[in-house]
Amino acid sequence: MSRIRIEAATKRFGGVTAVDEVTLDVAHGEFLVLLGPSGCGKSTLLRAVAGLTPLSAGRVLLDDRDITHAPPRDRDLAMVFQSYALYPHLSVEKNMGFPLRARGRARAEIRSAVREVATALELDELLDRRPRELSGGQRQRVALGRALVRDPGAFLMDEPLSNLDAKLRTATRAGLTELHRSLGSTFLYVTHDQVEAMTMATRIAVLHAGRLEQVGTPAEVYDEPASAFVAGFLGAPAMNLLPARVTSRDGRLYAVARDVEVPLDVTGEQPDVDVLLGVRPEHLVPAGSDAQLRGVVGLVENLGSEELAHCTVGDTSVCVRGTRPLGVTTGAAIGLSTCAATVHLFDRASGRRLV
Ligand code: ATP
Repeated sequence: MSRIRIEAATKRFGGVTAVDEVTLDVAHGEFLVLLGPSGCGKSTLLRAVAGLTPLSAGRVLLDDRDITHAPPRDRDLAMVFQSYALYPHLSVEKNMGFPLRARGRARAEIRSAVREVATALELDELLDRRPRELSGGQRQRVALGRALVRDPGAFLMDEPLSNLDAKLRTATRAGLTELHRSLGSTFLYVTHDQVEAMTMATRIAVLHAGRLEQVGTPAEVYDEPASAFVAGFLGAPAMNLLPARVTSRDGRLYAVARDVEVPLDVTGEQPDVDVLLGVRPEHLVPAGSDAQLRGVVGLVENLGSEELAHCTVGDTSVCVRGTRPLGVTTGAAIGLSTCAATVHLFDRASGRRLV
């Protein structure tokens, strides 16, 4: 297994900067997920690491070897594509053995490597079939198997689960996590699906408009988002962001949104600054006379064990999430409260985290 270092990687397509000075280290044996909305540059960055898209500037290192200009086949990296990219006319066995045949390995060695991986991925029974005779999940496993037989320094994966239905995706997700654990290999994995990122990653790198917004463990990016963008992107439904203002009282600073007051211990903050006060839907609870926010309940959604209430507070939409029944009715007035410890604060102009 190898370490990948991406240094100030930039990729421009004409006037579009798809990847903008991204610096990122993927440690030995790490499962690092590149996460972000459509068009944020994650596939371009992965393809640059694979050698399929040349960078406009910056470097890629595998361990300490500079591979920025190395052709893909000389990079010791295996890529698994969203489309699987299997050869339709070749059997599963031939598809899986292809990378080793291309490297001129002996037939017996190829056969034994393929058999070993096929057993690990439960593909033994399917080795004689062609890709069109397989289900989506089986094709995905063959694509993975083809990458595995090479025993590469690291695996690069571009949304490998996105063509699977929801149930199979959940099962394959767990299978991939298990595989990563047993192999101890380095994985660099692209997805726009935050559940995949949260459940599989050892660390998540959140990209936005080609730039790296934050890198951290799933708990860090969820609990301490570095920006309003990360706060809004991770979590479904998204974090509520209420316009607020920093005010000074009795020599102390507070962020105030309606009756929600958050004391600020940050130094360097000035009063009369516009901020965004972030509260996750699960940290808002219906309240009576001590309510800090007052609004009206709109749509109430039943999720089975939980309920979502979409409310309007002033001219801001606010979502509340809690165990069913929440005890609220569409059209009724609602009071809500939260506690300061669960509230996040972002500078409204830059989006950067303050608290
Ligand atoms: P998705 O999740 O939709 O695949 P992504 O985050 O992987 O999105 P990229 O495919 O890396 O995003 O694209 C980043 C930006 O670069 C987009 O604005 C895209 O239109 C642009 N782009 C990507 N490839 C090319 C290309 N070959 N020529 C021109 N522009 C491109």
